[in-house]
Amino acid sequence: MSVSQNDNPFYCSCDRCSAVIKEENAPSGPLIRFINAVADTFPDKEISTLAYQFSRKAPAITKPRKNVQVMLCTIELNRSKAIAEDPGSASFVKDIKTGPLSRIIFSCGTTL
Ligand SMILES: [Zn+2]
Repeated sequence: MSVSQNDNPFYCSCDRCSAVIKEENAPSGPLIRFINAVADTFPDKEISTLAYQFSRKAPAITKPRKNVQVMLCTIELNRSKAIAEDPGSASFVKDIKTGPLSRIIFSCGTTL
């Protein structure tokens, strides 16, 4: 089962979500908490989610459940350069090194 953010850079800014975002130090906080609730409802299912744009930075407190697979997307990278050689990819590399262990790299991108 796949549950992901809307495919745009906008996240909810209602009072409840804003409070969670502040607590988690990341806009992915409300999303991961919601996905964890789905995972708790369906403990015998694997729940996958995409992490990109505002959901790329992992929440500070909440960790994905064991049955949640977070796929870190490369859509934001400069596909014409190696990740290690592109300064614009530095934050992506940091997210790979500091994100939850369950993360999977999912290569998706556009060509011009
Ligand atoms: Zn909200």
